[in-house]
Amino acid sequence: MKRTSPKLKSGIGVVLCDCGGTLAGRLDFKRLRDLPAEREDVVLVKQCSGFCRSAETVRIVQSLADKGCRRLVVGACRQDIYDLPLAEAMAKARLKPGMSAAALIREQCAWVHPDRGEATTKALELIAAALRRAAYLAPIPSASRKINTNVVVLGGGIAGMHSAIRLADLGHSVALVTHGDELGGCVSRLSDFYSYLDDDADAAADHLKQALTSARDRIQSDRRIRWIARAACQSISGEAGCFSVGIRAGDREQTLKAGAIVLAVGLITDFPLPKGTGSGRILSLPDLADALRRSASVGATRLGEALWRSREPARTGVERSAKEGDANKSLPRSVALVLDMQGEQGRAVHALVLSAAERLAASPRRRVVVYCRHVRVAAWGMESLYRRARSAGALIFRYDKPPRITEQERGILIRAQDTQSGLVVEENFDAVVLADMRSAGGKENLPLPRTLRRGPENAFQADNVWLLSSQSNQPGMYVVGAARGNSELRDAQNDAGAAAEAIHQWMGAGKVMVNRDAPVVDAEKCVLCLTCLRSCPHGAIAVDSKKEATSMSAVACRRCGLCAALCPARAIAFPRCSDDQVLAELTPGPGVTVFACENSAWPAANAAGAQRREYGAKVRLIRVPCAGRVDERYVLGALEQGAGRVLILGCHREACRYLVGADHAAKRVERLQAVLAKAGLDPARLAVGHMAEFETGRFLELVKG
Ligand code: SF4
Ligand code: SF4
Repeated sequence: MKRTSPKLKSGIGVVLCDCGGTLAGRLDFKRLRDLPAEREDVVLVKQCSGFCRSAETVRIVQSLADKGCRRLVVGACRQDIYDLPLAEAMAKARLKPGMSAAALIREQCAWVHPDRGEATTKALELIAAALRRAAYLAPIPSASRKINTNVVVLGGGIAGMHSAIRLADLGHSVALVTHGDELGGCVSRLSDFYSYLDDDADAAADHLKQALTSARDRIQSDRRIRWIARAACQSISGEAGCFSVGIRAGDREQTLKAGAIVLAVGLITDFPLPKGTGSGRILSLPDLADALRRSASVGATRLGEALWRSREPARTGVERSAKEGDANKSLPRSVALVLDMQGEQGRAVHALVLSAAERLAASPRRRVVVYCRHVRVAAWGMESLYRRARSAGALIFRYDKPPRITEQERGILIRAQDTQSGLVVEENFDAVVLADMRSAGGKENLPLPRTLRRGPENAFQADNVWLLSSQSNQPGMYVVGAARGNSELRDAQNDAGAAAEAIHQWMGAGKVMVNRDAPVVDAEKCVLCLTCLRSCPHGAIAVDSKKEATSMSAVACRRCGLCAALCPARAIAFPRCSDDQVLAELTPGPGVTVFACENSAWPAANAAGAQRREYGAKVRLIRVPCAGRVDERYVLGALEQGAGRVLILGCHREACRYLVGADHAAKRVERLQAVLAKAGLDPARLAVGHMAEFETGRFLELVKG
C-alpha cells in the first residue's frame, strides 16, 4: 500500500522535551533534532525541558507559531500531562485545535529501553510517524450548544422521588411522571420488610415511613417539581439536551421538553403462577405485606384470615371457617417463601424476603422456609438480618433446579432437591409466597428507543462497568434504582444522587461544548445499509431522509469510530482518527505493530514505561479511540509493511469503554485470521488482546508474544 503525504500549505513545528534534562542521558537529542530539521515540511525544531509547565508551553508554541508553523509534533511524555497547557497555548497563539500529533519519547522509548542507541532509534521512528500523521491533521473546532435544563423523571418510587428532589435542589425543573396516584412505589407497599436497615424491625419500618412522608411532602410543596399522576408515557424522541416526552394523563395529552430523562420505573411482581394453582393461597410479597398489615389490626393470630382475604378466589372453606370463629383452622402454620424461580434475584429482593421471614417466624408455632438458590447478604445489615431470621426459626433451603409447586386440597406441596445433600424433599405448606420481582422494564410498556441497551433481567442498564452507577448507553438517559437491576434501597438512593449530579454537571450551565469531530457520512457513498445505525453502541445515528443517508448526532456520539470501521461503503469519515492518519503512522519493518485502545492498552503501555519495564524495541504502538476502530485495512497495511506480528489490544470485553468495541475487534480478528490462513500466511501473526488500563503485566505478556 503506497502512500504519499499531502502537500502541506503550512509548515510543521517540532517540540522535543528532555523532561528537566532527565532524558538527555537516555536519548541522543542531537540526532532527534536533526531528523525533523532535514525534512522540507518542518519549519522549526525546539528543544525544551518542561513542556508541561504552562509558561514554557506558551513560550515555545508562540515561537513556533511566529515562524509560520500551523501544525505541531510534540516529542515528550504522555499527552495527558501537557494536554491542557498545550490547548491553552495553541489558543493563545491562534493555532487551530486538533493540529498536534504526539511521539511518546519518554514512556515508550527512554524509560523502557536502557540501551541509548536502541531508545534513540525508536524515538526517531516515533517522531517520523508523528510527522507523517501530522500531515493529515484537520482542525477540530468546538462550538457551544444551548440545551434544555428541565428533567423528566419516569417513576415515583424511592429512586424517582430522590432523583426529583435532588435535581430540584440543584435548580432544575422536574416533571415527575407516575402511573398511579401514589408516591413511594415498592418501598411504600413493602415498608414492613426493610428490617435490615435497623436491628429492630419495627423501628426500621417506622423510620422508612417517616422518610417517605417527608419526601412526599417535599415533592408536593416544591415549585420546581411538577408531579403528573396517573399518567402514561406515550413517546420519547429527540436526543440528549432536547428530548420530547409525550404524556397522557386521563384525557389530556401533553409534550414535556427536557434535556435529560431519568428512568426510575422500579420493581414489579407479575410472574405467572405455576400451572394448576390459583386458589389464592399462592401470594406475592405485596400480598403478604397487605396481609400482615391487616393481621396487625386484628391481632397476630389472625394472620391466616388476613392472608386468605388478600386474594379473592381464596374466600372458600378456609375463610368461612375463620368467619365461623375457628381462627386456628385458618391460621397458616406453615409458610414457604420461594425466591429465584425466574432467575437469580439480587440483594433487594433477598432483603425483603429475609425480613418477611423474620416477621413470620416470630410466631412460635409457625414453620417458615425460604427456598432460594443462594442467600445474598452482601449489603450492610443483611448478614445480621439473616442471623435474626434464622434464630427466629426460619429455615433456608437451597436448590439448583426450581422447585415444583403443586396445589392440593390440604395445602401446597413443594418438591425440591437440596443443593448440598442432593436429597429430594417434599413438604406441604398452608401458604406459599412467590417472592420474585423484576424491573418494570421487562413489561416493555415504555416507548423507549430501540437503541437503549438492556442488561440482565431486562434491566435498562447494560451490563458494563463504565455505565455505573446511573448511566445508560443512551446519552441523556439515566437509570436509577430497580430499573437498572435489582438494586437495594440505599443503592437506589445513591443512584438517584449520582444521576442528579451527573445531569447537573453535564447540563447545569444550559449549554454544552461540542467538538466538531463526530463522524461525517458522505451521502453520495452511503447506500443506507444501516450497518452503522444498528451497530452504534450509543444510539447516536439516525436516517436523514432529505439526504437519503445516515447522520450522526454530535451530542450523542461518543467518538469511538466503530461506525467508520464497519461501513461497507467506506462512506464515513472520522476526523478524530482518520484512515489516513492511522495508515500514515505505520512504520515499515519487521516489528510488532500494536493498535492500542486509548482507554486500556495505551495507558497500560505507558504505565509499563513508568515502571521502567522493558519490552521489545521493535514494538510500535498506534493509538486508536477503541479496538473496534481498527479495520481490516489497518491490519493488512501493517502486514504489507512487513510487520512480523499485529496486535489489536483493547478493553476487556465486558468492560469495553464503548460497550461493544472489544467484541467487534475480537470478531474481526477471527475473520482476518481465516483470510490470512487462506492466503497461506500464518494466522498467529495477528492476535487480539484484552486488558484494563492498569494491567501492565498483561500488556507486556501480549507484546512479548
Ligand atoms: S463514532 Fe461510535 S458513538 Fe459515534 S456514531 Fe459512530 S459508532 Fe456511534
Ligand atoms: S454503514 Fe455506511 S453505507 Fe451503511 S448506512 Fe451507514 S454510512 Fe450508509
